[in-house]
Amino acid sequence: MGVWLSVLVHTPAHAALGPVLTYRYATTLPVGTLVRVPLGKRETLGLVWEEAEQDATGEIDSDKVRDIAGVLDTVAPLGSAWRQLVRFAAQYYQRSPGEVALAALPPQLRDLSPQQMQRKSLRTPRLPLQIAAAKPAGEELVRHDPPVLTPEQSAVVGQIAEARGPFLLFGATGSGKTEVYLHCVQTLLVRDPQAQALIMVPEINLTPQLEARFRARFAPLLGAHAVVSLHSGMTNPQRLSAWLAAHQGSARIVLGTRLAVFASMPHLKFIVVDEEHDPSYKSSEGARYSARDLAVYRGQLQDAKVVLGSATPSLESWHHSRPAQEGGRYLRLHMPARVGADAQPLPKVRLVDMNHQPRKAVFSLPLLQAIKDRVERGEQSMVFLNRRGYAPVLHCADCGWKSECAHCSAFRVFHKADRTLRCHHCGFTERVPRACPGCGNMDIAPLGRGTEQIEEQLDSLLADIRRPHSTSEAFPDGEPARVARIDADTTRLKGSLQAQLAAVHAGDVDVLVGTQMIAKGHDFRRITLAAAVNPDGALFSGDFRAPERLFSLLMQAAGRAGRDAALGGNSEVWIQTFQPAHPLYAALKQYDYPSFASSQLLEREQAGMPPFSFQALVRAEARKQETAQAFLAAASANARSDMAAWEGWQEVLAQVTLYSAVPMAIARVANVERAQMLVESSSRGALQRFLSGWYSILHATRSQPECKGLLRWAIDVDPLAI
Ligand code: ADP
Ligand code: ZN
Ligand code: ZN
Repeated sequence: MGVWLSVLVHTPAHAALGPVLTYRYATTLPVGTLVRVPLGKRETLGLVWEEAEQDATGEIDSDKVRDIAGVLDTVAPLGSAWRQLVRFAAQYYQRSPGEVALAALPPQLRDLSPQQMQRKSLRTPRLPLQIAAAKPAGEELVRHDPPVLTPEQSAVVGQIAEARGPFLLFGATGSGKTEVYLHCVQTLLVRDPQAQALIMVPEINLTPQLEARFRARFAPLLGAHAVVSLHSGMTNPQRLSAWLAAHQGSARIVLGTRLAVFASMPHLKFIVVDEEHDPSYKSSEGARYSARDLAVYRGQLQDAKVVLGSATPSLESWHHSRPAQEGGRYLRLHMPARVGADAQPLPKVRLVDMNHQPRKAVFSLPLLQAIKDRVERGEQSMVFLNRRGYAPVLHCADCGWKSECAHCSAFRVFHKADRTLRCHHCGFTERVPRACPGCGNMDIAPLGRGTEQIEEQLDSLLADIRRPHSTSEAFPDGEPARVARIDADTTRLKGSLQAQLAAVHAGDVDVLVGTQMIAKGHDFRRITLAAAVNPDGALFSGDFRAPERLFSLLMQAAGRAGRDAALGGNSEVWIQTFQPAHPLYAALKQYDYPSFASSQLLEREQAGMPPFSFQALVRAEARKQETAQAFLAAASANARSDMAAWEGWQEVLAQVTLYSAVPMAIARVANVERAQMLVESSSRGALQRFLSGWYSILHATRSQPECKGLLRWAIDVDPLAI
């Protein structure tokens, strides 16, 4: 006999396609218990989801119900709030609860037997939770005593204490947002001896800095084990022990990236989403969830206060934080001033009109001069270009050959450092040919430029420039300028980013070249110039979010420059542009995010774009583009015909626009053709209802003859790029 239990396992069984699996156990088990169950020929981790109906209908053949193989009873059952978060995320993002739940658990849990788990749990309290790998650069700057809050900070802290939120903390870089988080967390943890706080940042690279600050503040108050990290850069045992500490409540503060939004924290009272506008909060595989949006939902669920912080909020959050009488749901808090011992006004923005510069020049003369001056004064500069490699294309002028990828509808990038042509989409790499593969011409040339080329050019342009004081006998007249590059290519090895950042901090570098990687969050003290050499592309991109991202990137770059009191007065942000009159740059010059945001929102409203409409994309992949498109077209036609016959669904259909299937911007990647279809509605509820009904139709469409050869399909709700 025994008790029947519904158990979630890691399968893509969407709710629309059938019930959760049923297993049997001798006694009942609390919902949320972790178990080992047989699945096919293997045994896997499962989660007791609910007590199942005991075969009253005879639908389930009781002989087929298999036994739960073991119970991980050293881990307390996952609480109802956590389960509701999973249920909601699965429903909203159209995935199976099993997939969401099991992906949200630390990977090592899946592999451990109950016995191994028991040994682990016994050890856990003594496991060292010291997770930061390298000593973060700039750690010596960490303050140990909390500073006295400025009136601006106090006002914000007061509002967070009094109102329910969610809050959008709109504060300039260096306005003391992190200090506000620290203060709120401290008040909360002192008042409530169980309370837990979740602090999220967009990138793994930023966690060591934040971790150092939180540790310095809270280790003396709460003990070294009270602060843990959770991100994908940790080893599986580290992740498991941090997860368990959060689940058991011994970790009071969890710092993490987007996956931390699913950490089990039974006493969660406070959530921070720092740099809330950052695209990396949106997952791009599996359940494509937005950790920011789930954080807001989770705050409601667990009655935890949620603070979203940014100097350039996403337009969605900005819109949500309009005045309540206009329908705003978030409370906007503003901290315009930079603070701290060496607070500086934001650097001056200089636009260089490239229409009046020598054609093909990478560096305009005034920008080059400004960089030289800084080298000679012993200050640092930072130059951005959002494209790595030497040149995006190699080209033969004789026959027109270009370095296309054989497997993708994209060009392979020329990397001069190792003389390769590399596809950034599929990884296909070859040595650069000696002559044109098309006609044998020996003279094939790079088209366009990437960070490697910028580095090379600067190296030669600055060859005669000397740093001010010679520290070495070899250079009595001053050492030559030093240029360094940081991008995905130079930081492939673990720890190499930290090492390179440390070199910048130590002053070993005069000019740092890089992709947006270097704009994010690193607190360089001696940088007094940040330059974007060619940012115009984003102004004319087909992606309607590109201007928003450019504005935030340039603001972030500005925040990096001029943090040092002695040097801050010289700080400048340089932008080379062929569009010097563009409103985006005009707003940037004034550091006027609100006016940029309102003009963008006006455009979005007129065009019926998010946040004034709600979107989902269905993506399909096949060997042939026509198969991918045929699947989407059939699924769309089936939605119309099937739903028209469903009671009450005409109304849902009428509120949803289904666009045509189109190839994706890069249609073929690794020999797979990709197509997509946009679904849009002015009502989030209608879109959600439509998607929940459409799922089984999409699934069924797959078996139509014209869809033979379809590899996979997936829904992306609230996509970031369309
Ligand atoms: P943000 O997170 O907005 O970039 P931070 O909280 O990092 O800003 O603050 C910027 C700098 O100012 C940090 O060095 C921080 O220690 C310091 N700081 C913040 N608040 C204060 C304060 N009230 N008094 C003195 N220094 C402060
Ligand atoms: Zn040729
Ligand atoms: Zn490729």
